[in-house]
Amino acid sequence: MTPINTEFGKKLEKYGGFDFNACYNCGTCTAVCSLSTETDSFPREMVRFGVLGMEDDIKSSLKPWLCYYCGDCTKYCPQDAKPGELMMTLRRWLTAEYDWTRLSGLLYRSLPLSIVAMLLVAAGVILFAIGRNFNLESVMHTGHIFEMAAIATVFTVILLPNIIRMWWFTIRKPGYKVPLKSYIKGIGELFVHMFTQKRALGCDDNQLRWFEHFILVIGYLGLLFTTVFLDWFSSTSLFVIIFGYLVSVIIFIVTIDFVYDRIKKSKEISKYSQPSDWVFVVWLLLMGFSAFAVRLFIDLKLLENNIWLYLFHLIVLVQWALIIVPFGKWTHFLYRSFAMYFTKITN
Ligand code: SF4
Ligand code: SF4
Repeated sequence: MTPINTEFGKKLEKYGGFDFNACYNCGTCTAVCSLSTETDSFPREMVRFGVLGMEDDIKSSLKPWLCYYCGDCTKYCPQDAKPGELMMTLRRWLTAEYDWTRLSGLLYRSLPLSIVAMLLVAAGVILFAIGRNFNLESVMHTGHIFEMAAIATVFTVILLPNIIRMWWFTIRKPGYKVPLKSYIKGIGELFVHMFTQKRALGCDDNQLRWFEHFILVIGYLGLLFTTVFLDWFSSTSLFVIIFGYLVSVIIFIVTIDFVYDRIKKSKEISKYSQPSDWVFVVWLLLMGFSAFAVRLFIDLKLLENNIWLYLFHLIVLVQWALIIVPFGKWTHFLYRSFAMYFTKITN
């Protein structure tokens, strides 16, 4: 028998929340959702599981990841219960459940703790620069090594074990028997969704938002590749330099639009922002902006006398790599892609 957690609603409140008492189970949310199908029906099922406290059933479900948060269900809910917000809240909660370190949950639940973590990272970077006597070349060299080491470490120590936990909760524990050849055959699905997020096109009137997300992903991956593998800040290749400028400008422009939407709250999707949503877009914006400014100062031969600019970029980068990527909203990008892959091989 499914265990019931009567305190589940209270637990969820710390991740965003949902008014379970408001829902009268009419099913409008599922009826209007363009992504809900006969076999993968949501969000009402998640609402019912939540009302009944069926925590384990939600943990073993991939459905919260199949929602791309268009907000239609929230718009048409006659009770103003905000089912789209519930799906978002469940994704935050699941992120915390998959994370073996439990740090995601702590940071989602506590804004002061998130601020302290960010400040500690900033202090660490400044102390490191003091230890290097603010020698620009030395700080930049270590900054570049850090980028490579952080990617490898965060992936192997945090993200990979968490994906294995997600697989355990959603495939192994519920008893799906998936042959190895299905894992191999379906792997393309993982990468297609990771790079294109094409399922979002299934939401009505979502083409522009999908396109913005698509070029943001391309811009982000492009900047990562250019700075980490092509060593943009030290490169003398005109192609690499121009490409770096281009991708950082893309990130900057798209994230400005996202921040503007969240401030304006004109769209359903940007009406309800949690601190983790703000941190994600603002830090992306700062990354694009500061990377662009650092390279510009290098080209204008001004960086030597303005090491603070590089330190600012390094602080943003280290906070991004050590907090937002492993424990924050960045992981949604990864889990969503794996959810599409797992759904494909279990259906
Ligand atoms: S539309 Fe609103 S009231 Fe109806 S089932 Fe969905 S959440 Fe509940
Ligand atoms: S937010 Fe959009 S995609 Fe998500 S459940 Fe609601 S209608 Fe469906």
